[in-house]
Amino acid sequence: MAGDEVSVLRLCSVCHSPLGKLTFKKENMMLAAPKAPVWCDACKANRREIREVEGRKQAILQEHRTYPHSSLDIDLEDVAILPTAN
Ligand SMILES: [Zn+2]
Repeated sequence: MAGDEVSVLRLCSVCHSPLGKLTFKKENMMLAAPKAPVWCDACKANRREIREVEGRKQAILQEHRTYPHSSLDIDLEDVAILPTAN
């Protein structure tokens, strides 16, 4: 990945299957997914997409390991849907 570019994964909002990947310059990063549904092969249906910065989940997991277990309880499924939480 180039230094000032960010890879963003497009995921199905229902089953979290990967729908593709986008690359943005950091300053142009678009984490807000469009309202228009996209076709999900896994669901065989049109679904809202969600977007997630590539590697973010791993970064959170690594950070999580440094915390005392009682202070934070992260559910990875929750982490995956955070970017589009309304
Ligand atoms: Zn799906």
